[in-house]
Amino acid sequence: RIDIEQLTLSFGSTEVLKGIDLSIEPGEFFAFLGPSGSGKSTLLRAIAGFGPAHQGRILIDGEDIAGRMPWQRDVGMVFQSYALWPHMSVAKNVAYGLEERRVPRSEIKERVLAALDLVGMADYAQRYPSQLSGGQQQRIALARTLAVEPRVLLLDEPLSNLDAGLRIQMRQELLQLQRRLGITTIFVTHDQEEANTICDRIAVLSNGIIQQIGQPSELYDNPVNEFVARFLGTTN
Ligand code: ATP
Ligand code: MG
Repeated sequence: RIDIEQLTLSFGSTEVLKGIDLSIEPGEFFAFLGPSGSGKSTLLRAIAGFGPAHQGRILIDGEDIAGRMPWQRDVGMVFQSYALWPHMSVAKNVAYGLEERRVPRSEIKERVLAALDLVGMADYAQRYPSQLSGGQQQRIALARTLAVEPRVLLLDEPLSNLDAGLRIQMRQELLQLQRRLGITTIFVTHDQEEANTICDRIAVLSNGIIQQIGQPSELYDNPVNEFVARFLGTTN
């Protein structure tokens, strides 16, 4: 469970997040939806522990995570550009976070294979990133994050580099995986259809402010303002 209370964050004199309040239930698949520049990545990065200091509180399972370094927060993040290490094999890429956390070598091998299996890439362990398609690379990035078994999964537009067909396929795979693992997930997207089809609830952001939070049907049926109505009405 994640609770965010009155989160405010600035880059220099520009306030980018302006008093964010929200709660995400355990096991929920939650979306941050909003146009480019609305603050989605900044909010996700603040939860992960990257980026400048902020005001307000972030609690994970009731614990205030202020002052904890990213790797002490027990969150896994897949970044908007999902860069894998090009000089490392797929297996090495996935093992990286485990090695950083000083997991015993014997256990690493098992967990790497289990993570690759989760995303259907177990046969690709010895390949290099350049030998994989964009969608395969995104799966490896996801496996790398899942391998450390975080309490919370943060996904920043993880399907953005895929063509439309693969995107729809990966969407469903991601949903099934999330349900199977029951891991609390925040999915960032600027695509309302994507949020609508796979997420339990959506927070619509604009200019660093949450305009509305609700289930997709609530947002469609009862948008609180014209921005939400227009944004959900657009097709990307
Ligand atoms: P997109 O959909 O394009 O990824 P976003 O909603 O993720 O957009 P953010 O990356 O969170 O948007 O950016 C929110 C605002 O903060 C933007 O106006 C951006 O220019 C600004 N910003 C982000 N990172 C920095 C930074 N490191 N320094 C200064 N300003 C920044
Ligand atoms: Mg972003």
